[in-house]
Amino acid sequence: MPTIKCNVTECQYNSDVTCDAPMIQVDHNGTARSGDSSQTKCETFKPKK
Ligand code: SF4
Repeated sequence: MPTIKCNVTECQYNSDVTCDAPMIQVDHNGTARSGDSSQTKCETFKPKK
């Protein structure tokens, strides 16, 4: 797993602005095809308890 910098610190997998998940899944964000990064999303996100 490469180092993934992630600013979503409210995610359970986030540690020090880095993703600690063993793998992540990224998907289209409401579109059939993505034209820029705003049209992608991390499906692995889980809110911190
Ligand atoms: S699972 Fe997704 S949202 Fe959560 S820290 Fe990793 S990259 Fe960020």
